[in-house]
Amino acid sequence: MAQYNDTFRDFGLDTRLVRALDHQGLETPTEIQQRAIPVVLAGHDLLASSKTGSGKTLAYLLPALQRLMKSRALSKRDPRALILAPTRELARQVYVQLRALAGSSFNIALLLGGENFNDQLKSLRRQPDVIVATPGRLANHLDARSLMLNGLELLILDEADRMLDLGFAPQLTRIHQAADHRRRQTLMFSATLDHAEANTMAADLLKSPKRVAVGEAH
Ligand code: ADP
Ligand code: MG
Repeated sequence: MAQYNDTFRDFGLDTRLVRALDHQGLETPTEIQQRAIPVVLAGHDLLASSKTGSGKTLAYLLPALQRLMKSRALSKRDPRALILAPTRELARQVYVQLRALAGSSFNIALLLGGENFNDQLKSLRRQPDVIVATPGRLANHLDARSLMLNGLELLILDEADRMLDLGFAPQLTRIHQAADHRRRQTLMFSATLDHAEANTMAADLLKSPKRVAVGEAH
């Protein structure tokens, strides 16, 4: 039986994160947060599902930032974490939440399809620690060799089921292969675990993943 935490403080998060949560009036983790955060903090790969609006963003952002704060970068040049989301709007929302949590601790870049490529090259030259992106544009940057992912410590697929429904499987595979090394931790979030293509992708991308399914019979 999982041990549930009553407040965000009980996860032992860095005071910078706890303060940012306080500032936003966030105190009690949702069920997906209660169950996913300890798994990510322990360093496991994760395949997680829970319905829209249940708080999946913080379920990965908090432990991801905690891990980045506590560990030394694998590479000085490459991004340490990459978060992929299916649409520009969703990626933007993730970026806003990430900025609110990370404060000035990390250099963060947002790379969206449809926006100016050269401006994005400039932001990549500033060697961001964390990138939030849509998969197509991130793959374009790999093709253009504007960034390398050899030092990537965390690969996070938000709304993985929707990215696959939108036809992003080739880009996700391309990104995975560019960051394919043993020390990478990978997290996949979906609205449901009952998605054949997402499960196939999970088998390729995740190493001995823990599964957390909120509100599903698993
Ligand atoms: P999902 O990705 O599962 O659809 P979001 O991460 O977008 O859900 O969160 C939905 C809403 O719930 C957001 O407005 C977010 O700020 C809010 N929220 C997330 N976690 C908590 C929490 N622990 N307490 C209160 N509100 C929360
Ligand atoms: Mg979400």
